[in-house]
Amino acid sequence: MTEATEPNKKAVREIRINPIVPSESVLVATARNMRPKKEEPPVPHDTREHVETCPFCRGNESMTPASIARVPSEGDWKIRIVENLYPILGDDNEDPNFAFGLQHTMNGYGRHEVVIDHSSHGIRIHEMTEEHLSLLFATYRTRMEQLYNANPRIKNVLVFKNFGPAAGASIAHTHSQIIAMPVVPDNVQAEVRNSSAFFEANQHCIFCSLIDEALTFEATLYDKDSGEIRRKINVGQFVIERSKRFIAIKPFASRYEWEVQILPLAHQADFLEANPEDLADLAWIFRRTMARLNAVLGGAPQYNYFLHSVPHGQEYDDCAPSFHWHIEICPRTSIPTGFELGSGLFVNTISPEDAAERLRSATFE
Ligand SMILES: [Zn+2]
Ligand SMILES: [Zn+2]
Ligand SMILES: [Zn+2]
Repeated sequence: MTEATEPNKKAVREIRINPIVPSESVLVATARNMRPKKEEPPVPHDTREHVETCPFCRGNESMTPASIARVPSEGDWKIRIVENLYPILGDDNEDPNFAFGLQHTMNGYGRHEVVIDHSSHGIRIHEMTEEHLSLLFATYRTRMEQLYNANPRIKNVLVFKNFGPAAGASIAHTHSQIIAMPVVPDNVQAEVRNSSAFFEANQHCIFCSLIDEALTFEATLYDKDSGEIRRKINVGQFVIERSKRFIAIKPFASRYEWEVQILPLAHQADFLEANPEDLADLAWIFRRTMARLNAVLGGAPQYNYFLHSVPHGQEYDDCAPSFHWHIEICPRTSIPTGFELGSGLFVNTISPEDAAERLRSATFE
């Protein structure tokens, strides 16, 4: 699938350090014989609008726990939030933390909820209207706020979506999940810690710096003989799209071949600060990014997306200038190998520059 455009391109083989989380380094290895990966076989996509036996379809509300929220509150719902039937955390566990030798258990207090993204069973993100996506982001925002306000022990509310069996989705009906935790997961913790160290050293947000760099980076070509500047090119090679308020970027050290991140252009640490105009603009760039991925990958790409926002609680009060919320979209196009699992070093077989170029030039509706 990826070979066709590559014969003319120089193979890349280098380890790239993730500027935000240096421990998440990536081996970019694009030569065909360097590829240690197996492609994830495509799965047929269920395009049905309504499925009689699906608990998330409209009309089957009695098959799920009661609604925690329904949008709109009257008439046919467009989005519903329900308790996860198999929660990994629950508010029934109020036991104090418990430590025994080297094995610590964390208090399992928290909430695990399912957001039924849309009433249509098989609709994909890029097929939803911008208006609907804007409503979905507003629903995430409202629920995050309620969960933080309901209990001061909640330090992190994580919103994420698994789409497709390889991405961990067990129910085919489009849905995302919200997990409210009394602890901050390791990967968010690493972003918080490193961005705050960068701020300490540079008095600048590292995410803002990366955006500036992507938008202003220029390559200068010098004349071989005279040494004079022949021309300057605005490279912007990692930028996929820019809207009024957001930017979609292919990270230089992408863990996944088609990983894309979306960030607000203006500094904002907490997703809760996003206003309705922000969310409408986010819906625009988000839908277009998902349509690009769909056009380039074909079929029904399996993916995860995560919304990373600054954790709450006293110890994170100082992180407002250093943390910058963002959405990470990670399509699952290959199966992790023993090498990756054993070394912790991700292998990316498509150079992020190429991937960005192909996403930028994708045609879609
Ligand atoms: Zn359904
Ligand atoms: Zn920033
Ligand atoms: Zn992140």
